[in-house]
Amino acid sequence: MHRLYNNEDISVFWDSDRCFHAKRCVTGCPEAFDKDRRPWIDIDRAPTAKVWQAVTACPSGALTVTYNHDVSVAFDEEGSRSVAYIGNEKIGECDFEASADGWNIYHTEVDASHTGLGIAKRLVYAILQEGERRKLKVSATCSYALSVLSTSDK
Ligand code: SF4
Repeated sequence: MHRLYNNEDISVFWDSDRCFHAKRCVTGCPEAFDKDRRPWIDIDRAPTAKVWQAVTACPSGALTVTYNHDVSVAFDEEGSRSVAYIGNEKIGECDFEASADGWNIYHTEVDASHTGLGIAKRLVYAILQEGERRKLKVSATCSYALSVLSTSDK
C-alpha cells in the first residue's frame, strides 16, 4: 500500500510493504503517527520539523519525505493523470491507462527546471494511492514509476 500525506510544507510517503514496524515514527512523533488511529498518519497534528525528524528516523525506508517547494500535486481522473503545478503553471505530469487489469502508469515527466525536488515521486504516489483505494492493481511500464514501485528508494 502506498499513501501520500501533505501539509503546506512537506509531503510524506508511506510504503506499507517496506514497514517492519520498528515504531521509530510512533515514538518520535506520536501526535502524527498513531497505529491505533485511522488514518494512522496525520502530519497536521505536529510541527513540520518534528514530523520530518520522525520520518528520517525510519530505518526501513517505508517513510520518506520531501519539501513541497510550493508545488501542488492533483489527481485528475478525467485526464487519467496526476499533475504538478506551481500556481496555475503546470510543471509535471504522470499518465496512466485504465484496462480490465487495472491501471498502468506509462509516462512521468517533470520540467527540467524543477527536477530533483521529489515531484515525480509525488506524481506517481498520487496515482498509486488513488488506484489502491479503489482496489485496482496499479502497474507501470514507465521506468521511473517502476522504480518507485520496486523496493529501490527513489
Ligand atoms: S519507523 Fe518506519 S519501519 Fe518503523 S513503524 Fe514507522 S514506518 Fe514502519
